Order: sequence, then C-alpha cells, then structure tokens
Amino acid sequence: MTHYVLPAPIQAAAPVEGASALFPVRRILCVGRNYAAHRREMGGDDRDPPFFFMKPADALVPPGLPVPYPSQTHNLHHEIELVAALGGDGADLSTEEALSLVWGYAVGVDLTRRDLQNAAKEKGQPWEAAKAFDASAPIGLIRPVDRSGHPQGRISLSVNGQVRQQGLVSDMIWSVAEVIAQASRLWRLEAGDLIFTGTPEGVGPLVTGDRVEGMVEDVGEVAFTVG
Ligand code: MN
Repeated sequence: MTHYVLPAPIQAAAPVEGASALFPVRRILCVGRNYAAHRREMGGDDRDPPFFFMKPADALVPPGLPVPYPSQTHNLHHEIELVAALGGDGADLSTEEALSLVWGYAVGVDLTRRDLQNAAKEKGQPWEAAKAFDASAPIGLIRPVDRSGHPQGRISLSVNGQVRQQGLVSDMIWSVAEVIAQASRLWRLEAGDLIFTGTPEGVGPLVTGDRVEGMVEDVGEVAFTVG
C-alpha cells in the first residue's frame, strides 16, 4: 500500500444518471470557438483550426451546489457546452475510432473570467486565470451513451428564465468525433477525461444571485445559482 506524507487529494467525480456509482474525473479538456457564430462574436475567423485549453478536474461543480462568484473578475461569463465523458484510452485516433471512447454525455458550463481572458489575449499570456479557476465547471448528470446516443439537437442556456444562448449541436464546426480525434493527436486520452466541446453564440455576464439553467437535447440539464 502506498503511503503519502499528506492526505491524498479527493478523487474528482461527476454523478451518473440512474446510478449511485460516480464517474471518476481525470482532467477537463475544453475546445475554444467551436460554433461559427460564437467564433465571430469573439472576433475569430471561421477557418481557424480548433484549439484546446484545460481546467483542473476539481474545478467541477456537481449538480445541486451553488457556484461562488469568483475573485478577481467583474465580468464572469457563461458558456453552455456539450460535455463528452471518455471511458476508454487512446492516442492518434481516427474520427471513426474516436466516438468509441465516449462513455456518456453531460451538460456543462465553461465559466470564464472574460476580463482576465481579454487581458491575457492582449498580452499574449496563458488563459489559466481566465478559465481554470476554482468552481469554473458546473456540470449536470452524465447520461450513458447507450441512452443519449451521440447528440445533434438543441443546446440552450437561460439566466433567470430568459434565454441567452441557443443553438444546435449539429452546428459545431468540429464534430465530437473530430474534437476527440484531434485532441488524441496532442495528448493520450484516458478514461475519466471530460471534453467540453465549445459554446454557441450569446455568451454574457452573470451576477451574484443569478439562476442559470442549461440543456442539451437527449442529454439532460445543468442548473446552478451564482453565489
Ligand atoms: Mn468554452
């Protein structure tokens, strides 16, 4: 048995629909600008290749918990995203192989300190402070892929009952299969990895007290209160 000089960190995990066993989370990969209209609202070009950033596994906020308004920002933004939960390992995958790694899907929100992200972009600095902060990844239940299928339908987010983001998963520039295949060329993917697959247009600010509710057709919901 391995012994540690400190208590080992608690394994990050996400709840699974209809099961008491949890999905153990290894790391969180995120895709930037994967819907054309959002790419344009962020000042990008439709021909840009996809790019990735990461959040730590313990940035996850499971269903039912509030999300504290983070420090060091005055412009916290919501980004509703389809999340692929991987149950297999692989590197250098083809798009055909890639989908076989998907264990299930969930709905997540890629919370962003937009003011810090804009400052980082201006200075050519990394995005960790803007994207990878504590509690930056609220998520709903993971639905196993045999029940969800590979979703193509509606994705939306409302704040206090007002719709802010609305789109179709099928409008992604790079499909889930292509995202997984491309990520697998950069890193060996492993069971427990989550991939946030990008957000449609309509990102915007949240304030303390806001009620955020998001959905992806055939997958489920995510809901939380800020603060
Ligand atoms: Mn995002």
